[in-house]
Amino acid sequence: MNYVFGPVPSRRLGQSLGIDTIPLKTCNWNCIYCQLGRSVPMTNERRDYVPVQDILLEVEQALMSREKGRIDWVTFVGSGEPTLHSRLGEIIRRVKTLTTLPVAVITNGSLFYKADVREELSVADAVLPTLDAGTGDLYRQINRPHPQFTFERLVDGLVAFREVYRGKIWVEVMLVRGLNDTSQSLEDIAKVLQRVKPDAVHINLPTRPPAETWVQPADSEGLMRALSILGNIAEVVHPAEGSFDLSNDENIVEAVIGIITRHPMRQDELERTLVRWSPGQVSETLAELEASGRAQIVERYGIRFWSATPAHYPRSRQSIRNIPGGQRLSPKNHKNEI
Ligand code: SF4
Repeated sequence: MNYVFGPVPSRRLGQSLGIDTIPLKTCNWNCIYCQLGRSVPMTNERRDYVPVQDILLEVEQALMSREKGRIDWVTFVGSGEPTLHSRLGEIIRRVKTLTTLPVAVITNGSLFYKADVREELSVADAVLPTLDAGTGDLYRQINRPHPQFTFERLVDGLVAFREVYRGKIWVEVMLVRGLNDTSQSLEDIAKVLQRVKPDAVHINLPTRPPAETWVQPADSEGLMRALSILGNIAEVVHPAEGSFDLSNDENIVEAVIGIITRHPMRQDELERTLVRWSPGQVSETLAELEASGRAQIVERYGIRFWSATPAHYPRSRQSIRNIPGGQRLSPKNHKNEI
């Protein structure tokens, strides 16, 4: 399958069947913590990136083939910003005719200032936008948006969406040490949240490999500060535990590429996930994918992750063939879980 994956364990949505409406990596932001690497080039063009009919066919097949009760949510998420697909609204509506499962959209919220995007998302059961900053300066530092965006436009869009949207809005704050985990930054975010009035605030940490080498997750003091300043609708979202459903992947190459395109993983995690194949087969496949230029190693927090190319990470390692398991370099820095 090219556009539908999982169900995968989601930190916020249980077992989530993912729908990816755009190619890697299509985004109008270039967040310093993005697990998909840098946005090269960044684009703000809404268009029909992949055929609607192909997406719907895969959704239908996935819903029929997965065991009943194995999926909690159908979630639009994946290789960039899903609202850049110009027919997202139509896709959501048609997915809802295929299933009674709730539908969520994970988005950066940058296009909510547009009435047509707000209308398209109105049929989703939950929308999970990002708010990492309460000032324009910090917004530009953390999210590095397309030049067409201002912070005021982002906030106005979120407020306008809240006014019309009847589903759940769960705002995500990705907490980066030394940037938005200070008291002042959190108070600025809290002021914006008072206007947006989300149903919940999910505090998250950049535990998957961030685009920039210098990004660090907030420490426990930063997390406590965030909880106390963002109020009682805020909660820390812990890394998800659970299994990836790969029951429909017959081909090990497709299975590996399907995972690492959206979820960069350590080799030992991949070996545990791909239980249908032996660790030796997984290792051999990764080496072949690396040699053919379809996979790469990214080192962050002293840990090596496998990611798909063409994700752009500065100073990513090109080879780990001589390192058994390709695992962590420094156990005390180990912070990554899927
Ligand atoms: S984290 Fe999301 S919004 Fe930010 S650059 Fe990555 S895909 Fe885009």
